[in-house]
Amino acid sequence: MMRYNLLLKSVLERALKYYSRKAIYSRTFGGEKEYTYRDFYHRVCRLAWVLKELGVKRGARVGTFAWNNHRHLELYFAVPCFGAVLHTINIRLFPEQIAYIINHAEDEVLFIDEDLVPLIEAVADKLATVRHYVIMADGALPPTNLKPVHSYEDLLSSASSETYEFPGDLDEYTPAAMCYTTATTGNPKGVVYTHRALVLHSMAACMVDTLAVCEQDVIMPVVPMFHVNAWGLPFAATMVGATQVLPGPRPDPHLICRLIQERKVTLAAGVPTIWLGCLPLYESGQYSGQSLRAVVVGGSAASRSLIEAYDRLGIPILHAYGMTETTPLVLASRLKSYMQEWDGERKYAARARQGLLVPGLEMRVVNERGEDVQWNGREMGELWLRGPWIAGEYYRDPERTAEAFAGGWLRTGDIVTVDEEGYVAIVDRTKDLVKSGGEWISSVDLENTIMAHPAVQEAAVIGVPHPKWQERPVACVVLKPEFRGRVGKEEILAFLSGKVAKWWLPDEVIFLEEIPKTSVGKFSKRVLRERYAHLFSG
Ligand code: AMP
Repeated sequence: MMRYNLLLKSVLERALKYYSRKAIYSRTFGGEKEYTYRDFYHRVCRLAWVLKELGVKRGARVGTFAWNNHRHLELYFAVPCFGAVLHTINIRLFPEQIAYIINHAEDEVLFIDEDLVPLIEAVADKLATVRHYVIMADGALPPTNLKPVHSYEDLLSSASSETYEFPGDLDEYTPAAMCYTTATTGNPKGVVYTHRALVLHSMAACMVDTLAVCEQDVIMPVVPMFHVNAWGLPFAATMVGATQVLPGPRPDPHLICRLIQERKVTLAAGVPTIWLGCLPLYESGQYSGQSLRAVVVGGSAASRSLIEAYDRLGIPILHAYGMTETTPLVLASRLKSYMQEWDGERKYAARARQGLLVPGLEMRVVNERGEDVQWNGREMGELWLRGPWIAGEYYRDPERTAEAFAGGWLRTGDIVTVDEEGYVAIVDRTKDLVKSGGEWISSVDLENTIMAHPAVQEAAVIGVPHPKWQERPVACVVLKPEFRGRVGKEEILAFLSGKVAKWWLPDEVIFLEEIPKTSVGKFSKRVLRERYAHLFSG
C-alpha cells in the first residue's frame, strides 16, 4: 500500500468538491446566518492568509474562546490545515484556570467571540505569550482594552485571496488541536489531537454501528466546541457534507427545541442535563422532535428513565461514552440484531449501559489484583484503553502522564463491568465510588434508580466520611417544580428499597434547588462532597 498521511486538509477539500451547495447554519451573538460549504471553504482559505499575516508559524498554538458558531468552525479547519494547533479554551473555567491553560499552551493568537471579551480582559495582564487578539463580531467591535486587537471580519475581508494552498507535506502525527480537561486536583491537563487521530475518529463516528453520521444528516452539536471538539462532530459532519446547525451562545432548552424543529435536525448531541431540560417542552407538546433519528447522550450516564421518557416521545437516545483523552468516542450503545427480539426490560438494561467498544480501539478491564475481569456483568475493574485516537500523554506534564499512561494504556479512572455480550457499563469514577465498610457502592446506580422516581428531576449521590463505615452514601435530589415540598426522604428511601441492596440505601436525602455543575455541565460532586463533608461528624 501507499504511505499516505491522513490530514484534515483532505476532509476540508472533500467538502468543497462534493458538497459545496450544502448548508451550514449558525447562530451568533448578533443574529442567525446560513451559508454554503463553498462560502465556508473560501472563508477558511482567507483565514489561513490571516494567520500567515499575523506571523503564525507551523506548530504554533492558536486559541479560541467561542461558542458553537460558523467562525469557530472556520477556525477548526483553518488553523490545523495551515499547520498550526487549534487550542479550544473552555469559557466556563475559573479565570485563574483560563490564564493557566493559555500560558501553558503558549497561545500566540486568541480568537474571541464578542460577548466573551470581558472574560479575557479580566485575565489579559496574566497572559505571557499572546501577541494578537482577534474579536469575532457581527458588526462594530465592542470597546475593549485588549491590545493589539483586530476584527475577524475586517481581517478576512482584507485577506490576499479566497484560495489557499494548504500544506500537503505535514506528517499525519502533526498536532492539529488541543483541549484541557479539569483534574480533581491541580491544574487542568492538556490533551493534543493529531491530524491522524481526528480523521480516523471522524471515520469511526460515521460507522453505521456507532453514530452513523452521514450526508443526509442535519447535525446539531449542543455539546460545546470548546469541549473535546464538540465530540468530533464538526469534523465528521464536514467529512461527509452533512448539514450543520451551530446553536450559538447560551443554548437553553427552548432554543435547542426550536432549532431542532425549525432546522429539522436529525442528530443532536449533548450531556444528559440538556436533554432533561428539554424533556418537559417535548412532553407538553410545545415542540416537536420528530425529525430526530437520534440524540447522542454522553459525558455522564444516560439514565434508563431518560431513555424511556424519550422513547415515549418517539425520539431514540443513543448512549455513548468517551473522555477528553479519547477524542472522545469510545463506546456506543446500539443493540445487536438478535437483541432486538429481547423483551423491553432487557433491551432497556442494555441501552442504559455505555455500550460496545468502537472498532479500531482496544480495551482491558483490570481489577485491583491487576487481572482482566470476567465478562459477567458483575466483576468490576478499571477501564484501560489504547488505539489511534487515544492520547498517549498529557501535554508537557511528565508526572501526571506517568500516572495515567503507564504501560502504554490510558487508565481511564472509570470503574466498569462488562456483560456477556461485551457491553460495558460505567459503575463509577474511581473517586466517586462510595466505600462503605470496605465494600463499593455505585453512586451512578443509586442516581439512576432515584431518577426513575416520577417526582425527581435530578439526583447526585456522594460518599460522605462516616465514623463507623468509612463513607456512607448521601443523595442530593432536585424535585420537579410541581413536587417541591411534597416528597420527603422516606418516600425516596421507600422507592429505593427492593431495587438496591439494603446497605446501599442513602443515610441522608438532601433536597436542593439545583445540583452544582462543572464547567461542562456535569454534576460537580466535588462541590457537594466539600459542602457535606462533616454531615456525620457533627
Ligand atoms: P471529560 O473528559 O470531561 O469528557 O469527562 C470524561 C468522563 O466523563 C469519563 O471518564 C466518565 O467518567 C464520564 N463519562 C463520559 N461519558 C459517560 C457516560 N456515557 N456515562 C457515564 N459517565 C460518562
